[in-house]
Amino acid sequence: MRRPLLSLLALALLTAAPVPAQPASSPPAETLRDPIFPGLGQAGLDVRHYDLHLTVAEPGTREVRGVVTLTLASTRPLAQIRLDFLGPGVEAVRWNDRAVPFQADETAAKLTVTPPAPLRPGGAARLTVEYAGTPGELEDPDFPTPLMLGWQAVPAEGARAGASFVLSEPNGTHTFLPSNDHPSDKATFTTRVTVPRGYVAAASGLETGRVDGGDTSTFTFTQGEPIPTYALGIFVDRFLRVDETAIPVGVGGRAVVRRDFFPPETPGTVRAAYRRTDEALRLLSEWFGPYPFGAYGVAVVTPRLPALETATLSTMPLNMSTERVAVHEIAHQWFGNAVTPATWPDVWLSEGMAAYAELLWTEHLGGDGQAYAARWHANLTRAGTRPLRATRAEELFDLSTYQRGALTFHALRAEIGDAAFGDFLRAYVTRFSAGAGTVSTPAFLAFVRERAGAEAEKSVRRWVEEPELPPLPVVGR
Ligand code: ZN
Repeated sequence: MRRPLLSLLALALLTAAPVPAQPASSPPAETLRDPIFPGLGQAGLDVRHYDLHLTVAEPGTREVRGVVTLTLASTRPLAQIRLDFLGPGVEAVRWNDRAVPFQADETAAKLTVTPPAPLRPGGAARLTVEYAGTPGELEDPDFPTPLMLGWQAVPAEGARAGASFVLSEPNGTHTFLPSNDHPSDKATFTTRVTVPRGYVAAASGLETGRVDGGDTSTFTFTQGEPIPTYALGIFVDRFLRVDETAIPVGVGGRAVVRRDFFPPETPGTVRAAYRRTDEALRLLSEWFGPYPFGAYGVAVVTPRLPALETATLSTMPLNMSTERVAVHEIAHQWFGNAVTPATWPDVWLSEGMAAYAELLWTEHLGGDGQAYAARWHANLTRAGTRPLRATRAEELFDLSTYQRGALTFHALRAEIGDAAFGDFLRAYVTRFSAGAGTVSTPAFLAFVRERAGAEAEKSVRRWVEEPELPPLPVVGR
């Protein structure tokens, strides 16, 4: 009697024991150790491409279905793949089309997959994940009103149909997409979105297909240049799509496709904010060099949210629809999407230059750029400031990131003059959009020294590193 009882007990214990996440022999997979989000990403993992098919059967509800195939490479042997995922329930995982074991851990927000053999440097694999249900809920650490990052559902209201879209920066993409959700791992995307008939889907990249299948329509978008995961834009609404003539400001004079998406009954005052998009694209490509992508436009969304520079198609909430914000998001296509922060503390390099573009636009309109800079300086004097590398999530999008960040570029311009400043910006974009397509604060400072000299680097470094606010730099007087 005893022995069977014991073994039954042992069996019960064994089956109840959690499956070890790792074979005992290999160390646990390392994350990318971001100073602000230490849990994100997997060290050594390189996602080259995401091929995503989302089905949004009922826009305005939180339900989604997804099938994604990631093209993987690695820079070290990986016995397991640990993707960021706080998403809907996982139904199947395949490695090169073969079913493989997986474990979805909600607490860690990780989906761990064990391939038949380790992924090795020089190797490649296709990892497919099928999932369906409700995207995870992730609260933004710093936005003044509570903000859920990632998948957004806008319920139907009165005559207005429901809508769905994503708003992910900094770390919301893994609420709807299993991903290496860190800006240092940029990738290309193919995004297919199936929506009920009558709806329009829009996403980052060029529209490369549309199939009407009776009750549904499926739209395909190709984002052929690598972007960070947070910059993937996806939108579903009864949009009015407005096409404009393509303009030749792209790489090598390439024509940039121009399209905007407006929800039905968008007021004329809101649309007015986007009338000068072509003019801004021309001005900024003079300063920054060729526009880095194949398309540009906006998707207007109705909830009160921050605007976001989603690649080739900025997310513009109604309440953010001003020409100033519109220009800011255009500038992010270079600074943020083409040249991407290597870690989250480096985000000031994106926000500082996007804010600086507002000053350049002001000057273009005949306004006083120096007065614009003086206002930033006064704001920071009043509110207080900090060195530019953020140390806490609450600092990522604060006044210092934007306005002290912008003044750092103003200081460089004051030091070297307009012509050299333009040369610097164009060389900076060329240099740091190549390769991994990322820039860190130390790499930026080294580049300032290399291109503009030790004196310029010294004055820029004060803006980056000193606890106090340096005096207002003066340009052009
Ligand atoms: Zn910005």
